[in-house]
Amino acid sequence: MTARRKPSAEERDAIIIPLRPRTEPRWWDDDRARHLRDRPEYCPHCGGSIIGDGGIAVEYWEAENRIYHCWCRDCGWAGDIIRVERMIGHEPEH
Ligand SMILES: [Zn+2]
Repeated sequence: MTARRKPSAEERDAIIIPLRPRTEPRWWDDDRARHLRDRPEYCPHCGGSIIGDGGIAVEYWEAENRIYHCWCRDCGWAGDIIRVERMIGHEPEH
């Protein structure tokens, strides 16, 4: 496993530069900004960065759920990450 550092702000901006100059707002700008804001940045298995060339975080939807399918280049982990607003669990009796 190779430890990855968090990309600098300049490196992160370089990753998301649009392919062509933007002259006016596009209908998907809000979704794009939300995707970039909410996407997982670190592997839940090893903690390596999964943005840029460290892996992938592809968003898809099931009903109202936003799901990020992620893959980590460092450890090979792949899986889905779902953001939840509230989680109700149980604690086993001691
Ligand atoms: Zn990993």
